[in-house]
Amino acid sequence: MNATKPVDPRLQLMQALGDAKAMFAPKCEVCLTLAIEAAQQATQAGYVDLEAEARLLWGRALLILSGADAALPVLRRARRILPADAPAHVAAELELTLAQAHANGGRNGQAMQHWLLGMEHALRARAPALYAEAYLSLGNLYVAHNDTGSAFHYHAQALEFAAAQPDPDLRAKAGIHLAADLIGLERYELAEQLLLAAERDLVLPLRQDWQAEIYNYLGNIHARQGRTEAAQAFLERAYAINLEAGFLWGQTVNLIGLGRLLRELKRDAQAEAYLQRAQETVARFGAAHLSQQIHQQLSQLYEQRGDYASALQHHIAFHEYHQAIAQKAMSSRVNKLAARRLAAAEIKLKLLSSEIELSQLRQQTSERANRLQQLENAAYRDGLTGAFNRRALDERLPLLVAQAQQQGSPLSLLVIDFDHFKTINDTYTHQVGDRVLQEGARQMQVTLRDGDSLFRYGGEEFTVVIGDTTLAGALRLAERIRERLEAWPWDDVASGLRATISIGATTLMPGDSSTELLRRADLALYQAKRAGRNCVVSSGDVHA
Ligand code: GH3
Ligand code: MG
Ligand code: MG
Repeated sequence: MNATKPVDPRLQLMQALGDAKAMFAPKCEVCLTLAIEAAQQATQAGYVDLEAEARLLWGRALLILSGADAALPVLRRARRILPADAPAHVAAELELTLAQAHANGGRNGQAMQHWLLGMEHALRARAPALYAEAYLSLGNLYVAHNDTGSAFHYHAQALEFAAAQPDPDLRAKAGIHLAADLIGLERYELAEQLLLAAERDLVLPLRQDWQAEIYNYLGNIHARQGRTEAAQAFLERAYAINLEAGFLWGQTVNLIGLGRLLRELKRDAQAEAYLQRAQETVARFGAAHLSQQIHQQLSQLYEQRGDYASALQHHIAFHEYHQAIAQKAMSSRVNKLAARRLAAAEIKLKLLSSEIELSQLRQQTSERANRLQQLENAAYRDGLTGAFNRRALDERLPLLVAQAQQQGSPLSLLVIDFDHFKTINDTYTHQVGDRVLQEGARQMQVTLRDGDSLFRYGGEEFTVVIGDTTLAGALRLAERIRERLEAWPWDDVASGLRATISIGATTLMPGDSSTELLRRADLALYQAKRAGRNCVVSSGDVHA
């Protein structure tokens, strides 16, 4: 569109960085590649500030994909080159990421130092969203040291900041963290309520990583209340997402949960397999308190089996991790100093948050929320109808198919095409055609349930993905959509206008790929057109 304007290389680089950030949660490996590229281009072009930002992202991705040891050199270099006048929120994010990296490596004192610096930058930025982030990561420090009470305290504060803002993402994230603490404190109902609220706040598919966390914790809740089948299903779903996204930490946590669950069900061989896979996964990034848990589980498992030699070996490993964690805990002089600075920062923060004008706060936060929203909209939403776009479908459908295949749960799909749309355009103008697409998409959207997603597949063609639903259910939904559009008073859009749709419906079969699923639905749609339009055709015989 801007072909006539000269391309600004700095703007282009910022755009590339934005694209890389958008891939962080859906596909961390892609984010890593893009961040590295952006960093190299920034170096060549001499934009040191952008290089630092790209390295921050690079480090964040590495932290997840390969662990703290790999991430730290990249983050340290970002810190060295970050200009003194860099935006406070970038400096804050960098310090908070360094804090996370040290915490993962079990270096609590250093983590605390970085956390404090991060907090100070956040205060300078006057960005309540970052206070919430800071409190979240501080709470996580305590989680890593099994101090659930303190973790709860900081996570509750994070939720308080997040709740006062229009950014649903942050609310979701804070809610998930707090729910995890509540599970530790055995307050299961409260935890479940928080998780369900968080799930409603999630913006998918961008926030898949948190979806996985929600499933993981719902799995924990079910497990602890003896609902083992539901627990296993949730943990497996979480694992599938983490595997796809490349989140090693999440994978390990899910595998430990599955191992523990299957031990309780006396399915030792499967439990052992999960725990061994957990051990292999954790070895790729290193996390003392996760290793500790795995060895504890394995030791108990072998003891029950009567294999005392293996049990002892794992108990020794468990004990070594236990000692190492205790030694690094909160007792040194550094940490006493840190505790004093922490108290000072907390007081400052309390004063500040009451001092900031409410309107100013609202403006800042809504700007941030808008930016986030814009980024997501640009990436995954169709501009005309607000439905998810083709790119979202291409990324999401294979995942949903794999998940359904693995769980053996039904998944159905509709392909919807407007009838004689060329005639509508020709008779009533292209603008009227556009309004038909907008109104049509809205009518489809209101017919769907929460878990169903509407995608604009192209032109005047839409796709609906319907989870946990058999072909019979999908056909009922298709018919409701078709009737609703047929009955809509299109006369209000243009006098004499009529608009109808044809629908092809299909459902997932064992061994299906997403391509195969789409192909079958397309075929059914073609039949619906041949049958005279304004009707629903299913790809196979309808049972039930
Ligand atoms: P059929 O019943 O067989 O589907 O007939 P059709 O006229 O709808 O045939 P076809 O699917 O080939 O044509 C789709 C038309 O939709 C062609 C294109 O001009 C129009 N179209 C595609 N995208 C848009 C859009 O964004 N806005 C408008 N107004 N028209 C669009
Ligand atoms: Mg058409
Ligand atoms: Mg068409």
